[in-house]
Amino acid sequence: MITPVMPTYARADLAFEKGEGPYLYAQGGRRFLDFGTGIAVNTLGHSHPHLVKKLTEQVEKLWHTSNLYRIPGQEKLAERLVANSFADTVFFCNSGAEANEAGIKMLRRYQHVAGNPDKNRILVATNAFHGRTLGTLTAGYSDKYREGFGPMPDGFDRVAFGNLNELRNAITPNTGGILIEPIQGEGGICRPPEGYLEGVRKAADEFGMLVMFDEVQTGIGRTGKLFAYEWSDMVPDIISSAKGLGGGFPVGALLANEKAASAIPAGMHGTTFGGNPLAMAAANAVLDEVLKPGFMDHVLEMSRLIIDGLEVIERKHPGFIEEVRGMGLLLGMKTKPANVDVVAKLRELNLLTVPAGDNVVRILPPLNITKTHVDEALVAIDAAAAALGK
Ligand SMILES: *Cc1c(COP(=O)(O)O)cnc(C)c1O
Repeated sequence: MITPVMPTYARADLAFEKGEGPYLYAQGGRRFLDFGTGIAVNTLGHSHPHLVKKLTEQVEKLWHTSNLYRIPGQEKLAERLVANSFADTVFFCNSGAEANEAGIKMLRRYQHVAGNPDKNRILVATNAFHGRTLGTLTAGYSDKYREGFGPMPDGFDRVAFGNLNELRNAITPNTGGILIEPIQGEGGICRPPEGYLEGVRKAADEFGMLVMFDEVQTGIGRTGKLFAYEWSDMVPDIISSAKGLGGGFPVGALLANEKAASAIPAGMHGTTFGGNPLAMAAANAVLDEVLKPGFMDHVLEMSRLIIDGLEVIERKHPGFIEEVRGMGLLLGMKTKPANVDVVAKLRELNLLTVPAGDNVVRILPPLNITKTHVDEALVAIDAAAAALGK
């Protein structure tokens, strides 16, 4: 008989009742070190005092008014995101998929308004993940996620991630935009080759196209910059953000330059819940911490410690790690044993991680961890390597 909770997930038999910093406590009191953060969501760990304070204050004042009225928290958050990125303007929604849908609409409508209604196709990449709506599923790579859900929307052409020649060759008079992740998360923490993102920008400029980055997983300090595009020598026209933005409160955002965003006048796109006062209180509190001087240096310092530690484990147990990947605290280890077995073994050892494509185990700790937490995680990973890395 079907369970009351629709069985769309093969869940681990584990339920948590409390979180504190990087730790989660299961029913019964067992403690886990959370290096998965609900898939790169709990930017500052659990129950961070500043987030608790700001959200509690807002809970007592006002929850929801709709976007029929001004929302001061949106104005504050948008100003800060604009001040700290290429963007001129921000749209708030509730999730990553929704932010991507808004971005796809913007890519298409930009060309429509520019008098190129036939330039409505978008280049997307192999191994991409953009969400579970029909549009974002079509933009994503996995056939498995689409099976039986057709007919799917049209308008996407796929090229191999990281291959600039293939991308340039795929451009037709109907290509109006490019949508990629600057580092692929679900695909296996894959970084494109040096110069690729700059080449994408150049091709887009040459052929009158816009560039959109899906930064749902890479954004909000995860890579050691507020957004991952900052590591490159280019700027996109549009980026989507979500996961880490609310530190655990559901919120998404679409950031765009004026040129792209001008295509969507008032009335052309909307959301009931998006950017409500609670979400804005949470996201503004996250930025209070993430934008503090030295925060990104700390992320990079913790990253270095984890990478160095994993490299030691790689040498010590040659049957375990094949490759260490990623930037900042968006890290992955491609393992020799099946990644799901490694994730299960680590969970037995009280360390939570998340599997990804290409047999990768994702390591996505809170950005404010300390060396003690890193050492604790490395002890667990070393023990898993000893057990599985034959
Ligand atoms: C998680 C993710 C999404 C989807 O976000 P939801 O909030 O689950 O809709 C989209 N793109 C990327 C890169 C993601 O990692």
